[in-house]
Amino acid sequence: MTQQTKYKRVLLKLSGEALQGQDAFGINRETIMQIVGQVKEIIDMGVQVGVVIGGGNIFRGVATQAQGMDRATADYMGMMATVMNALALKDAFESLGVKARVQSALSMQQIAETYARPKAIQYLEEGKVVIFAAGTGNPFFTTDTAASLRGAEMNCDIMLKATNVDGVYTADPKKDPSATRYQTITFDEAISKNLRVMDATAFALCREQKLNIVVFAIAKEGALKRVIQGEDEGTLVHY
Ligand code: UDP
Repeated sequence: MTQQTKYKRVLLKLSGEALQGQDAFGINRETIMQIVGQVKEIIDMGVQVGVVIGGGNIFRGVATQAQGMDRATADYMGMMATVMNALALKDAFESLGVKARVQSALSMQQIAETYARPKAIQYLEEGKVVIFAAGTGNPFFTTDTAASLRGAEMNCDIMLKATNVDGVYTADPKKDPSATRYQTITFDEAISKNLRVMDATAFALCREQKLNIVVFAIAKEGALKRVIQGEDEGTLVHY
């Protein structure tokens, strides 16, 4: 059933940490099912969903570089971590009867399709969730940048950046109880106020491509649906 929604095609960026829940690392089954349950709600409303998944719950290249490892090699390991998360997400979606495809920026054809833009767009049009794995396929980048890139390539209406905090605040709400949430903010304001929405490369690409961003909390029940319905949820970063 298709309902009236503010956005028709979205790119959802999930960090690896989003999947670990209260665990110290890895994938928490209850948490991943809560997330795919929320995504299913918007798919049932007729929204087309692409997902870029991070890998920080399993491996982070920068951290390992600090321990003396070659950065590019560490980053390839980080990208492999995102593929593990992508396979777990696909499995979780399919357990709820949602059709999902994994497209990887690095070729590993036995377990995932290699990223191909026309095929990805076709899947979205067919109502399948497309999970983009292996980031951009290049070291020295992040999955935030991969999300901006795929969001722009897929002609998405919005980038949905899922975080632990339910929006962009005037200060860190964990440290400053008087911090307030921005309902909306422009790209320029976010830059001038030095508010870190995504990493700088990712943010610059969104701004250049006029791909607006909503920052919201994926753990908050119903939040994703409210964002899609255009309700006051999270923070809209717009041009
Ligand atoms: N990574 C990379 N190129 C990319 C995307 C990711 O090299 O285009 C590597 C990098 O080492 C990074 C790791 O994969 O630390 C996990 O990605 P990210 O840190 O973005 O995951 P998240 O913080 O979203 O869980």
